[in-house]
Amino acid sequence: RTTEETGPVVAVLERICEELAPRREGQVSDFIPELAGADPNAFGLAAVSAHGRCYSAGDDEAAFTVQSVSKPFVYAMALEERGLDDVHAHVGAEPSGEPFNAISLDEQGRPENPMINAGAIVTTSLIRGEESRSRFERIRAVLSSFAGRHLSMDEDSYRSEAGTGHRNRALGYLSMAGGVLEGSVEEAVLDYFRQCALNVTVVDLAVMAATLASGGVNPLTGERVISRRTARHTLSVMTSCGMYDRAGEWALRVGIPAKSGVSGGILAAAPGSFGVGVFSPPLDHAGNSVRGVAALEQLSENYDLHMLRIP
Ligand code: GLU
Repeated sequence: RTTEETGPVVAVLERICEELAPRREGQVSDFIPELAGADPNAFGLAAVSAHGRCYSAGDDEAAFTVQSVSKPFVYAMALEERGLDDVHAHVGAEPSGEPFNAISLDEQGRPENPMINAGAIVTTSLIRGEESRSRFERIRAVLSSFAGRHLSMDEDSYRSEAGTGHRNRALGYLSMAGGVLEGSVEEAVLDYFRQCALNVTVVDLAVMAATLASGGVNPLTGERVISRRTARHTLSVMTSCGMYDRAGEWALRVGIPAKSGVSGGILAAAPGSFGVGVFSPPLDHAGNSVRGVAALEQLSENYDLHMLRIP
């Protein structure tokens, strides 16, 4: 993987990093104990074009856990394996307008959508293991194909969440009571914690986003990871539900299908043009990275990436 060192795109990314670095608002998340130690000043930005060119600036080599940014990819995997109707018999597709860890099920007993915790735990439960490979190893393999390299897992972060994530267990049990979680709640929740603990960099996020933005083919490796159809379904759900309870504001100001995570990562996929990854741990009240949101507003504006581009 080679990242361009100079050129106009790198200059734009560097300018955004410099301009936003002094911003001090937001709080580093501490609800998983292991996250609380993150450096509030870490800030990296990467973009990968649909043709596979990589650009980055700032802390582009810093590793962080992917957290909720894993959700669209496991959702995509479930779609590939079970089809749209079967998946959505178990989980809805409506923005919840509530925080990511809300205790909310719709009137059919399904979590509101696959981008909130309850829905993501259900989607993980829909993935099957194989004789030769556990469910988590299959999930890791697919996320690695999206990133174009093997992703390692942060054991400490996994253990930290496994020891404290009782609210997520409760969400799992509620979904089981609603008849939509398959198999064992404890196993689904632990695999969900493992998927959240996969280590990524902003460049990984940008490659993963570019794979969605190019309709399912990783532009660096050439591998088709998911079908075009699944890529579109995934981008649709990211559009309506990817930014916690800020989907409306995001559509207004940025307009790029995206998913953010509690460690401070945001992944944004502008169909046919760019995949973008940002990392900066301080979060706003909705749980989105403060510098990340600001960086994407600027990129969207600068490159005219809003999905409702009026010709
Ligand atoms: N592992 C975290 C949780 O399930 C992820 C939350 C997030 O990134 O939104 O609580």
